[in-house]
Amino acid sequence: MTGRLRHYTCGSTTHDLGAMFRGADRGVRRFPSGVFLYDASDGRRVLFDTGYATGAWATGWRGAVYRRLLPPQIAEDDDVAQRLRADGVDPASVTHVVLSHLHPDHVGGVRRFPDARFVLGQGALDTLAAPTLRSGVLAGLLPDWFGPAAKTVLGRDSFRRTHVGGVPLRAVDLLGDESYLVVDLPGHARGHLGALVEREVLLAGDAAWGSDLLDGAARLRVLPRAVQHDPARYARTAETLVALADAGVRVVCSHDPLRERELLG
Ligand SMILES: [Zn+2]
Repeated sequence: MTGRLRHYTCGSTTHDLGAMFRGADRGVRRFPSGVFLYDASDGRRVLFDTGYATGAWATGWRGAVYRRLLPPQIAEDDDVAQRLRADGVDPASVTHVVLSHLHPDHVGGVRRFPDARFVLGQGALDTLAAPTLRSGVLAGLLPDWFGPAAKTVLGRDSFRRTHVGGVPLRAVDLLGDESYLVVDLPGHARGHLGALVEREVLLAGDAAWGSDLLDGAARLRVLPRAVQHDPARYARTAETLVALADAGVRVVCSHDPLRERELLG
């Protein structure tokens, strides 16, 4: 497999680690919102998440609460379409957009891809149909055409069992050549997904706050634990990520402060 995997940052937020994890030193850390573009060798292009929305958010009081709790830092050039164009990529050439889940820092750029096929969990769609404040989903960030847009919706029966480095995973072979496996990483939000690219890099979404914080799932304080959809499954998913990292897979979380653009090879 000779694809290419690139990383872009589309906005960020900051949190105090000491307020999130028991036993962690206090200290504010910046959490960039990562977007990942896979160029398959046959020309198909798969984007993983879309970052924050630039400009005003038409998201009502729920959006105001969200922005107060998790203040985003977003400049105009944080827009995913601008990031891609600046790197010589036409946003219209993206064939698939995988959404790890529907939190605002992952769906803000959905509106830039009206011709792509969206890949998401059934649980994520269920949340969108009946969002609660705790689910953290702001339907106003999604364009009107998202409802009827082309979608591959992954439910319980969509995944098949596979092993990577001896670690069991539930996966869907998105492109039919094993280059891009969409994997079930439950716990953070309903229907939360990751992607294993060329069996080399695991895009873990929000399965953990950072690849250096995988051991923190069991030490989450009350509030950050309460916003996980299923804290027990979140902790088990973190154990899976640790096992994959031990097996030589590079685990990359959506909010990792990555320096490099190219992630394969
Ligand atoms: Zn999230």
